[in-house]
Amino acid sequence: MLSEFELIRRYFTHPAPHTRLGVGDDAALVRPRRGMELVVTVDMLIGGTHFFDDADPLRLGHKALAVNLSDIAAMGATARWATLALALPRAEPAWLKAFATGFMALARRHDVGLIGGDTTRGPLAICVQALGEVPTGRALLRSGARVGDDVWVSGRIGDAALAVAARKGRVRLEKHELEAARRRLDTPSPRLALGAALRGIAGSAIDLSDGLCADLGHICGRSNVAAVVELDRLPVSPAVRKRLDSRAVRAAVLAGGDDYELCFTARRQRRDAVRAAAKWAGVAVTVVGRIERAARRSASVTVLDRDGQPMTLKQSGYDHFR
Ligand code: ADP
Ligand code: MG
Repeated sequence: MLSEFELIRRYFTHPAPHTRLGVGDDAALVRPRRGMELVVTVDMLIGGTHFFDDADPLRLGHKALAVNLSDIAAMGATARWATLALALPRAEPAWLKAFATGFMALARRHDVGLIGGDTTRGPLAICVQALGEVPTGRALLRSGARVGDDVWVSGRIGDAALAVAARKGRVRLEKHELEAARRRLDTPSPRLALGAALRGIAGSAIDLSDGLCADLGHICGRSNVAAVVELDRLPVSPAVRKRLDSRAVRAAVLAGGDDYELCFTARRQRRDAVRAAAKWAGVAVTVVGRIERAARRSASVTVLDRDGQPMTLKQSGYDHFR
């Protein structure tokens, strides 16, 4: 039987870049570079709530880190370190090896060091903290959207929620469509290069974890503005586009989550700068709407359908899309 310490040594002890002291002591020692401030975020993934219990451990390791790096990206920051707290029902070497492989592959790709964590027995739960750095005062916040700004979205949205809808039997997909959607659900790509490239260009940013309407609503709330988004402009996969008449699919695009794309705002005059940043980062970006004055008593995010008619009425009640 694998002991706790053998488990940590075998699976979670790796050389960590830009770290004075990593796994193995009572705590890690790190220091942001001169002129940088620390960016800190944490996310918990619970079996049954955030992932299906039969989830592939390799993909789970990837996703647990990816969702945190996505928050670092949305701040316009550079990811540097991560910690990993794990509750496991049992120490199963094959599961641990695959999980650590998925986690560390993404960590290495973004030059992130795993510098510590905690390991206990319990129902499967994964808690990852990511730490990054950003030049002092230059992080992208949710509060910087201004009336007249464009609203942008990176990559494509809706596929992750489409995979969940298919799993729940609400939509039927072709085999290749399902595989592509599941890849998006299970192995999202944190948009770190894009986030960093948008510093000084975007006014505000958020990552799309809870769905476009909810997350853009957070930008609106923190910025005291409203947003209008056009359904037809949303960047979606062919699988989503051809099913946009289905309520479940529209819900996936507008109110589904787990895309881990960036939604951000920028002045209109900065369109070329945004496109250049996206090109440098190798990610597509699309203008999906605009920022308007907040109107009292109406929803902060309005979605216009193909006929230009408002679809969303309330930010809170998503019954509309159910
Ligand atoms: P303590 O009892 O001081 O909390 P632990 O025995 O929990 O120490 O952990 C020993 C070392 O292993 C610490 O450096 C801790 O950060 C690290 N560690 C524990 N679990 C993990 C994990 N799942 N991933 C990475 N590092 C871990
Ligand atoms: Mg401990």
